[in-house]
Amino acid sequence: MNILVINCGSSSLKYQVIDSGSEEVLAKGLCERIGLDGRLVYQKAGGEKEITEADMPSHKQAIQMVLDALVNPGTGVLGSLDEIGAVGHRIVHGGEEFAASTLLGEEVLKAIEECSDLAPLHNPANLIGVRACQELMPNVPMVGVFDTAFHQTMPEKAYLYGIDYGYYEKYKVRRYGFHGTSHSYVSKRAAEIVGKPYGELKTIVCHLGNGASICAVKNGKSIDTSMGLTPLEGLIMGTRSGDIDPGAMEYLAKKEGLDLEGIMEVLNKKSGVQGLSNISSDFRDLEAAAAKDDHAGIRALEAFIYRAAKYVGAYVAAMNGVDVICFTAGVGENGPDTRKGICNYLGYLGVCIDDEANKVRGEERVISALDSKVTVLCLPTNEELAIARETVALVTGK
Ligand code: ADP
Repeated sequence: MNILVINCGSSSLKYQVIDSGSEEVLAKGLCERIGLDGRLVYQKAGGEKEITEADMPSHKQAIQMVLDALVNPGTGVLGSLDEIGAVGHRIVHGGEEFAASTLLGEEVLKAIEECSDLAPLHNPANLIGVRACQELMPNVPMVGVFDTAFHQTMPEKAYLYGIDYGYYEKYKVRRYGFHGTSHSYVSKRAAEIVGKPYGELKTIVCHLGNGASICAVKNGKSIDTSMGLTPLEGLIMGTRSGDIDPGAMEYLAKKEGLDLEGIMEVLNKKSGVQGLSNISSDFRDLEAAAAKDDHAGIRALEAFIYRAAKYVGAYVAAMNGVDVICFTAGVGENGPDTRKGICNYLGYLGVCIDDEANKVRGEERVISALDSKVTVLCLPTNEELAIARETVALVTGK
């Protein structure tokens, strides 16, 4: 069965068509600048990227262009749209309502709408993508795969904030966690790689990209993760602050004359390694600066690594041990120095990196030494494949 995977943002949309039998990507690409001018990037497996500039006033037109490209007699990969068996949609926030992927019927879409308050930048855009696909493919089943779902197994002690319990009861203010599809995919794959049952492993997944989070997976279940009510909590990220004393916000607001919106803008867009370095949010730029002994780059990288190592330590405590540590996403997959830097803090656990093996980028590989007490993996994530698998499972009931 061919699955169309859609990750719809407010002005962009990423897509892939995956053959669920072979798990091969038949075609992939993105639509950018939806609502502005419009740009479609389309790439058939083994082919060159094709770029088409064309008006995309709405998501519906964008998806129509994607569908047209997929059935294009010259470069398309499908004979007709009937060859799409189902569409898997990434949905960012499922609140407490969704602990698993689900078929998107009218009631479910309403429930997702109700979670939109919790993710005002993401859920409405995700829903627009679903609605547009429904209009264009009315007979094709749609499945929602939630970033938050995997973390719904967190115990109360991990998901509650230390605030008036009434806020949880009234408004569901609690920690939800994100990147769940990635954490789930990577931790399962890690069990396969080390050849142990998923249900008997203690795994820590470090998803280190522009957005970054760490997850403790015990016996196949997420028991804690670093992001919270929103994706702002936890690690220092590309442009997001991660954990910060809430008191600092009041202080800053007064000093800089900022309102709440201004403070959130600072924490979301002008902080993280970008804010710390004033160089870039991209780790390649920071590593280049650090290589020239530029302290601004060094301090940002050191702070990022230190925060990540502290979270790993915390999750070793939470699980009373760890068998496998995985590094994934842009920096995790491509940053040997970052991986090594984090692992250097973990010597007390018997973590030992094999420097030769660690030279890997973007490939599955064991990067720990033979005598390391914990297996450390470089393990590329594949959220689209995970979404396609979930979609097939729901549609076929297997
Ligand atoms: P997101 O999906 O959250 O936008 P990604 O997982 O794509 O983020 O990660 C993007 C980040 O990965 C980039 O900002 C960059 O810092 C880092 N990255 C990508 N390639 C490399 C590389 N070769 N070396 C070091 N860092 C890299």
